[in-house]
Amino acid sequence: MKVTVDRTRCVGSGMCVLTEPDIFDQSEDDGTVVLLREVPGPDQEDKARDAVHLCPAQAISVDD
Ligand code: SF4
Repeated sequence: MKVTVDRTRCVGSGMCVLTEPDIFDQSEDDGTVVLLREVPGPDQEDKARDAVHLCPAQAISVDD
């Protein structure tokens, strides 16, 4: 799995960070998403998919 984020769409809600803080962080400057881990571990893939659905801005996508 590969995770991508579109920071131009991100509204800084932080749902992704709450869902999987090992993959997502937020910029200290503007609160937009920072991708910590492009390739999640096997035990993180479900959380990455959850983040796709929870993001209110459709800023996260995963590619299997
Ligand atoms: S959940 Fe979406 S909008 Fe919110 S910080 Fe993460 S990427 Fe940005």
